[in-house]
Amino acid sequence: MCGIIGFTGERSAVPILLDGLKRLEYRGYDSAGVAVFNDGKICMSKAAGQLSNLREKIRDSANLTGNSGIGHTRWATHGAPTETNAHPHISNNGKFSIVHNGIIENYESLREELKEKGFDFYSQTDTEVIVHLLEYYYGFNGDFKAAIMKTASRLAGSYALGIICTDAPGKIFAIRESSPLIIGVGAGENYFASDVTALVENTRNVIYLEDGEFAELTPCGVTVYDCIGRKVDKTVTRVAWDVEAAEKGGYEHFMLKEIMEQPRALKSTIEPRVKQGRVEFEGLELDLSRVRKIIITACGSAYYAGCVGRYVIEELCRLPVEVELASELRYRNPIADEHTLLIAISQSGETADTIGAIKECRSRGASVLAIVNVVGSTIAKLADNVIYTWAGPEIAVATTKGYTTQLAVLDLFALYAADELGRIGAERYRQLLGQIMKLPMLVQRALDFSSNIPALAGRYHKNRTVFFIGRNIDCAVGLEGSLKLKEISYLHSEAYPAGELKHGTIALIDPDRLVVALACHEALLDKMTGNIQEVKARGATVLAVAQEGTKKIVAEADDVIFVPRAEPLFIAAVEIVPLQLFAYYIARNNGCDIDKPKNLAKSVTVE
Ligand code: GLU
Repeated sequence: MCGIIGFTGERSAVPILLDGLKRLEYRGYDSAGVAVFNDGKICMSKAAGQLSNLREKIRDSANLTGNSGIGHTRWATHGAPTETNAHPHISNNGKFSIVHNGIIENYESLREELKEKGFDFYSQTDTEVIVHLLEYYYGFNGDFKAAIMKTASRLAGSYALGIICTDAPGKIFAIRESSPLIIGVGAGENYFASDVTALVENTRNVIYLEDGEFAELTPCGVTVYDCIGRKVDKTVTRVAWDVEAAEKGGYEHFMLKEIMEQPRALKSTIEPRVKQGRVEFEGLELDLSRVRKIIITACGSAYYAGCVGRYVIEELCRLPVEVELASELRYRNPIADEHTLLIAISQSGETADTIGAIKECRSRGASVLAIVNVVGSTIAKLADNVIYTWAGPEIAVATTKGYTTQLAVLDLFALYAADELGRIGAERYRQLLGQIMKLPMLVQRALDFSSNIPALAGRYHKNRTVFFIGRNIDCAVGLEGSLKLKEISYLHSEAYPAGELKHGTIALIDPDRLVVALACHEALLDKMTGNIQEVKARGATVLAVAQEGTKKIVAEADDVIFVPRAEPLFIAAVEIVPLQLFAYYIARNNGCDIDKPKNLAKSVTVE
């Protein structure tokens, strides 16, 4: 999510750290900080907001002049993006300083344990437990390796860590588990960073650390150890990318990179919320027994995530759910009171219309639950409760991982609420939670299944109008699939409930039309087959999306994209994957500017 960097050598560390952070800023940019080793002490500077604020602050400080140090640009997950919560964090005895990328899932229990041992905490981050654990274990016998390994063994979750210690002048340490970290090998100087972007200016020789490995870097050497402290022989690889390619991790566009990141993003959304076989949302204070109705409000793709969420929440909780576009809801005297729960969804947390709708419903007594990606954003602050999606920064204007992680939060929330309301039995709860936990793996399989999509896009990219049809959740997924196509390829496209087509729109179906028939909802497969025959009879070409093994569809459609089998309630996150890729490859075929489509902005802060 965020960017971390470390340097040790003969040169002054701070300018190198700041340049590296500039390159990493696309990974997270709500606050930043650096710490250097200088004259037996750790000197640190941090600032909230963009990196330029930190630069400004450092300009006036004379003591940031060491030759080794660490830096961080943050994408907050725990605690607001303030200066205090910014990294690096420092141990109580001032010996250790660390930067962290990732989420520590068991930080609450570690925090309690460390408080009992007498450690003082000054931030709200999950990260701070790590630096105190290091101090604690180092205190046993002054052995770094042992302290780092022992600390790592206590952490659940994901982390890439950069560490400096006053007892190890000129050394920097790095360790990773499920978060990216790369070592840069230079001449008389060495580095680590979250990705090669931050390194290629200085060196193209890199070592890729594996999960569980940690590295000790001095100006003239890099030693890598495995998780039980044995030395590992690592190969130095030469990177051929330029800086721009490096930021995209080798992908041609941020959108494709973000599509591919979805399994990992979903893991970050789901796993920290599941504790001992139960869904738990940290800090959530919601009296669901008072709720008589739920209104979901949002704009764009977040609204379409809400359209899926309605099916899931109504099915599991048996509570009425309305889904309404924020730009409509805010101007129509909504019927909401203290028995209404408003769920507001926004990737950026800054969507102006959603903020307007929240204010309208809140003034009538509704309680507000926000689902947002950006910690500390306006909507996060306005809401009574927040569930973060933890998808990491999304750069491409057309959302992909933002949307699928919103779906995952809605799935988890529906299950949590059904249980709170006593509307679900223990066995079904266990079974459905198991299905949600499988989503990262199923989305990965959907990506693995997608090898025929570039060819399909090659066949269909000249179609001027595309219809998406489906029933139930398929219909809601079609809305998002259609929007993706419009946003990045500028093709005219419409999504329709399959049964509604014959009430008018079927007049537009002719041999020039492509109809994408979403047929993953097996209980309604016969109905969908009927709808496919209706459009085929009028000459349309049909591209169907169905669960693997659905033989019936192969006989009906011109082309089929299969997705892995999944629980029908939660299949949207899997089913959208080929539609994202289809839109992507059509836009690529048509030479469109995929990451920055015309007329669009990432965060719509105007109404
Ligand atoms: N979980 C840590 C925090 O909120 C690190 C987030 C990041 O990866 O930037 O401070």
